[in-house]
Amino acid sequence: MSAYPITDHTFDVVVVGAGGSGLRATLEAARHGLTVANITKVFPTRSHTVAAQGGISAALGNMEPDDWRWHMYDTVKGSDWLGDQDAIEYLCRHAPEAVYELEHFGVPFSRTEQGKIYQRAFGGMTKNFGADPIQRTCAAADRTGHAILHSLYGQSLRYDAVFFIEYIALDLIMEDGRCRGVMAWCLEDGSIHRFRAQRVVLATGGYGRAYFTCTGAHTQTGDGNGMVLRAGLPLQDMEFVQFHPTGIYGAGMLITEGVRGEGGYLTNASGERFMERYAPHAKDLASRDVVSRAMTIEIREGRGCGPDKEYIHLHLSHLDPKIIHERLPGIAESARIFAGVDVTKQPIPVLPTVHYNMGGIPTNYHGEALTLKDGNPDAVVPGLMAVGEAACVSVHGANRLGSNSLTDLVVFGRAAGLKCAADVKPRDRQPELPKDAGDAALARLDRFRNAKGKTPTAALRLRMQKVMQSNCPVFRTGDVLKEGEILIREAWKGMSDIGVTDRSMIWNSDLVETLEFDNLIAQAVVTMDGAANRKESRGAHAREDFPNRDDANWMKHTLAWFDGATAKVRLDYRPVHTYTLSNDVEYIAPKARVY
Ligand SMILES: Cc1cc2nc3c(=O)[nH]c(=O)nc-3n(C[C@H](O)[C@H](O)[C@H](O)COP(=O)(O)OP(=O)(O)OC[C@H]3O[C@@H](n4cnc5c(N)ncnc54)[C@H](O)[C@@H]3O)c2cc1C
Repeated sequence: MSAYPITDHTFDVVVVGAGGSGLRATLEAARHGLTVANITKVFPTRSHTVAAQGGISAALGNMEPDDWRWHMYDTVKGSDWLGDQDAIEYLCRHAPEAVYELEHFGVPFSRTEQGKIYQRAFGGMTKNFGADPIQRTCAAADRTGHAILHSLYGQSLRYDAVFFIEYIALDLIMEDGRCRGVMAWCLEDGSIHRFRAQRVVLATGGYGRAYFTCTGAHTQTGDGNGMVLRAGLPLQDMEFVQFHPTGIYGAGMLITEGVRGEGGYLTNASGERFMERYAPHAKDLASRDVVSRAMTIEIREGRGCGPDKEYIHLHLSHLDPKIIHERLPGIAESARIFAGVDVTKQPIPVLPTVHYNMGGIPTNYHGEALTLKDGNPDAVVPGLMAVGEAACVSVHGANRLGSNSLTDLVVFGRAAGLKCAADVKPRDRQPELPKDAGDAALARLDRFRNAKGKTPTAALRLRMQKVMQSNCPVFRTGDVLKEGEILIREAWKGMSDIGVTDRSMIWNSDLVETLEFDNLIAQAVVTMDGAANRKESRGAHAREDFPNRDDANWMKHTLAWFDGATAKVRLDYRPVHTYTLSNDVEYIAPKARVY
């Protein structure tokens, strides 16, 4: 490996990822006097968080009275009782202060007449424990993520954090089950860097790009999740993939749920507002899994719109153009560019599109990574933490409510920073790294860099994406999943013949995409196997052969380990936390779903 000279760094904390969660963790650790490095493969303000549209949930009560306990009830119900209730209490209790903090950081929220933060309705958000919809989602027009990310990056620069921008993190450095640091490759000059740290916080986002159409950025390849699998650690609940009801037909771009929150609605080919049949109470604002399934049934039963009956119409032309201009300017632009539609006159053609990964690196509400060890399902992996979409806290359980992710990013990003501050002594001496630290990461890089096979990465990636799209979709059955397990492994086997044409170390996007594909395919395999294994329907996981939720046998988290040499997956389970954090709120026992 002498062909790759290494630059060594030592920090108290290394955060990988500069989206909302990574920046919030970086900021908190740095302001407590810890030395912090933030490694990011894209410029911080290009992280996917920038694309978040609709808003961030918090029981502020600006539009009408609200209570964090109602928010908690909705989140538990939305999670279809797979969420950990201690973590959900933490999320909902701390959400209001997290939003006020963002306001003070400079986020330009939309305002009410009285000058308070404007809040809109979002699916599954209710008052009085499910009684009626409530306006709980705080919004900066339909560019909330953009506003938050820019403010957080600006604030991070106030503290002493060091940013390593356009560096690709390759792999964790593990020693005797402890995470000691991370290896990274600088795209600009091709150099290799070894980071030693007391804590590594993975904030690398989701892996939507395992699918053919998704609302996520091309960089959403779940690199942190891939590193965790290679380190011999498990990922949790990967079978739970959220489809957003309203991706633009053909292009996949997101049209925020905020459109329906402002009064937009869906129709089928005969112009019927079909959601009234599926969810008489919540209608178009039922949770995402419910709306996505209803749309899929309409299309499958021949009631789709368009010449091929392939999509559903989303209407907002009845809304006051002033409201559209003020609160939804971004989606009006997206609809014009990507669907050729003027939303003040025509409906937008939409289709359920992969949007969010509920699964990820199991953590507790401090952001510490967990594994199953010696019978302890909550054993902390020393030195390793995770936040944001990469993590599975689990507050979203089997299905995330819209606008709960941005809350998750800032609440748990801050919690992780605080945990680092509590446990790590600033500039404490760190033991030497093992002699071979980073060798495996460089061997992997070198193998792909010199891969001389005949199949380009793009071809294998397309194959994987098509398999995931057709064999692990909105509705799943045993036979289709079983076939999917075989087909996805065939795509995985294709890696033995992978070919990379560019051998340079500087801005080698061919090699970057190959490393990303290697991360994606491992996650695709565990997602497929987890889905085939879970014989019930819960949240986003809808099995036609097992249509009911089965709490007696399946109210438990899936853990999945991946063997990179054979593509074999080992599955095990962790119990759901059926207790709250404090006596201020009671455990919410499972209830049947009524919409
Ligand atoms: C179009 C869209 C709209 C959305 N709207 C909303 C909304 O209105 N409300 C809501 O609550 N949620 C929304 N979501 C979901 C939410 O935005 C995301 O879940 C969230 O932003 C993810 O943030 P993150 O901090 O986990 O990671 P991201 O913002 O995805 O950032 C990942 C970071 O990791 C870095 N990274 C990844 N791999 C590597 C590597 N190998 N080396 C170095 N760095 C790496 C990247 O550079 C990046 O900085 C939306 C999502 C999408 C796609």
